Amino acid sequence: MLDLYETGQSTKSHLPLISKDELSDQDILHELDKIKLELKDEVVVLGHHYQQDDIIKYADHIGDSLALAKKGITLNKPYIIFCGVHFMAETADILSQNNQSIILPDPNAGCSMADMAELKDIEQAWNYLTATSDEKIIPVTYINCSAELKSFVGKHGGSICTSSNAEKVIKWAQEQGGKLLFFPDQHLGRNTCFKMGIPLEKMNIYNPTKRNGGISPKEVINSKVILWHGYCSVHQGFTPTQVNNIKSNSPETTVIVHPECSFEVVQAADLSGSTSYILDTIENAPPGSKFAVGTEINLVNRLSNQFPDKTIYSLSPYQCLCTTMYRVRPRWLLSAFQAIKNKSPINIITVSEEVKKNSLKALQTMLEIS
Ligand code: 13P
Ligand code: SF4
Repeated sequence: MLDLYETGQSTKSHLPLISKDELSDQDILHELDKIKLELKDEVVVLGHHYQQDDIIKYADHIGDSLALAKKGITLNKPYIIFCGVHFMAETADILSQNNQSIILPDPNAGCSMADMAELKDIEQAWNYLTATSDEKIIPVTYINCSAELKSFVGKHGGSICTSSNAEKVIKWAQEQGGKLLFFPDQHLGRNTCFKMGIPLEKMNIYNPTKRNGGISPKEVINSKVILWHGYCSVHQGFTPTQVNNIKSNSPETTVIVHPECSFEVVQAADLSGSTSYILDTIENAPPGSKFAVGTEINLVNRLSNQFPDKTIYSLSPYQCLCTTMYRVRPRWLLSAFQAIKNKSPINIITVSEEVKKNSLKALQTMLEIS
């Protein structure tokens, strides 16, 4: 019998098949080597760039959220173990074939930014904004959100975007005419729209904890872009002071940051882009180059080890760890493999058929654009 973890529904929590005391960390890795080989015809492992090294080494494909979403469609194995966070596994399920199961080794690996936008709040905002403005509104959601929000966007003629295609998707939305409602990440929305020439005065924040989102009808009418108030707590931790310190102490260092960082940080930095953009830029830089990187620490440390001929360090002196990504541990990955081997897979992420229909439409719009 399959045990399902369905969108928006609670499930019994799975205790690992191996207890903490049974196997050492080293034994776990040894078991993983064996079982991965044994199940190679049935299982494929996807790993986001922010995963820890002991997970990345078992990933068949590593990438940013766009690359992994695209890769998922091309895979034909019955089990995809997604080493990332919940919204990524949901996306993979929406795009997967009927005979495939998507497994998230720890189903509690969520994304705090995705949790900042709930369907009921988005619907309330939509009702207020559409009742206030006669202009058409195109909803665009960052892929970091629940499947329900992807479905909302599909239903209202909008698109999903990731940090690597946000510019293309927003350009497409502008071509549809009218205003843009962008959620849940205010920073990706603001940074991208500003880069595309939309002035800050034409962007307003909608905060669902305030009456009418804290935007007056006049502000709604004057806005080109309405930004949801959400943010990533990992990336919001980087500050313009950190960038300025690097600029004055080590002017030869390139500061490169993820567009989930604040507007002030992105403006002060030399370069900004998705996790894949950061990786490609560093990989293609000449030996001896120096980079201060504003993104999650597992990726920064991996880059630093991968390119010993370059100096690569975190922009922040503090620990910038995505704790939810970090929930995916080798022992939970082993549990996922063992459960498949025992013909009783656990922690399957399933999006309901009803939600799938429109969220697939929004994902397909994005894939056509990017
Ligand atoms: P990427 O799209 O760059 O992989 O980013 C995903 C993410 O969650 C960054 O915090
Ligand atoms: Fe979510 Fe931020 Fe973690 Fe990315 S780094 S998964 S946006 S909490």
